[in-house]
Amino acid sequence: MTSKKSVKIGKVTIGGGKPVAVQSMTNTITSDIAKTVAQIKRLEEAGCQIVRVAIPDEKSARAIKTIKEKIKIPLIADIHFNYKLALLAIEAGADKIRINPGNISHPKKLGEIIKEARKAKIPIRIGVNSGSLERDLLKKHKHPTAKALVESLMRHVRFFEKHNFKNLVLSIKSTSVTETIEAHRLIAKKTNYPLHIGITEAGIPEAGAVKSAVGIGVLLAEGIGDTIRVSLTADPVEEVRVGYEILKALGLYQQGADVISCPTCGRMNGPVEKIAREIYRKTRCIKKPLKIAVMGCEVNGPGEAKEADLGLACGPKFASLFKKGKVLRKVPVSRASQELLKEIPPCK
Ligand code: SF4
Repeated sequence: MTSKKSVKIGKVTIGGGKPVAVQSMTNTITSDIAKTVAQIKRLEEAGCQIVRVAIPDEKSARAIKTIKEKIKIPLIADIHFNYKLALLAIEAGADKIRINPGNISHPKKLGEIIKEARKAKIPIRIGVNSGSLERDLLKKHKHPTAKALVESLMRHVRFFEKHNFKNLVLSIKSTSVTETIEAHRLIAKKTNYPLHIGITEAGIPEAGAVKSAVGIGVLLAEGIGDTIRVSLTADPVEEVRVGYEILKALGLYQQGADVISCPTCGRMNGPVEKIAREIYRKTRCIKKPLKIAVMGCEVNGPGEAKEADLGLACGPKFASLFKKGKVLRKVPVSRASQELLKEIPPCK
């Protein structure tokens, strides 16, 4: 159950029962058009459905026009403080504007953004986060609690609704996983607007992927959330990969290769980690569902390998290569990944 309302961001619809969309944000200087476009193309290849770019200055806002001509996915302009940059980004063709009304608080300035977004027929994401809570709410709640964040967001929602602007996407971000979960549960009860979910500043991939999987995973399992962004201190392509792994784990995305591998133990015969990593890397481009199992021995391995579309169970020198539950042939362990990959049609 996603939110009832749907919102169109370029050609992508979120909410209203549509599949959860995976998005990311570039970390190039937006006005460096060549680098930004190159990164967005890598994101597109990884399956990113919506991309956000930072708009810290006029040059970046104006760059949107050219960037958009060279990419396929919808582009969101991320605006802080300067409402004029939002106006320029809309003029340049942004498919959505992301603002934090907490730092563009003047009603007249927000009114200007609303007016131009309405004319351009594009949505606005209102994002609040624990770092920019209004002073009065901080005083009232003592800390940026889930309730405080929701009160802040609802205040902004009412302002937009008063201006008859309902083309909205909402987000609440906290670095605390539990606060984020609680805040989303509260906001999901109060509104029907599509929700952009994620754990902000989650950290380096090792920690950030886990925090995001827990936070985003709990919410999606409860039917809360329409688009996800995994925030990682890393190449944004990693964010997209982790995003899809979360969706796959929840059964919300069933396309592409799913590589399972055993944890290895004293019975292990082959370099399972190396084989599994190589297969994972080389099957990322696959679009159709394909389950692959890489198992370290012929004691417990064949069971799992048989269940998969393709599987390997390593023996001391040779591995059994399974296809749809049957041994296809024995292959040298040293060439096991190459032999398995031969069974998969190339992506391009
Ligand atoms: S499949 Fe074999 S090597 Fe892998 S964990 Fe199980 S028993 Fe150990």
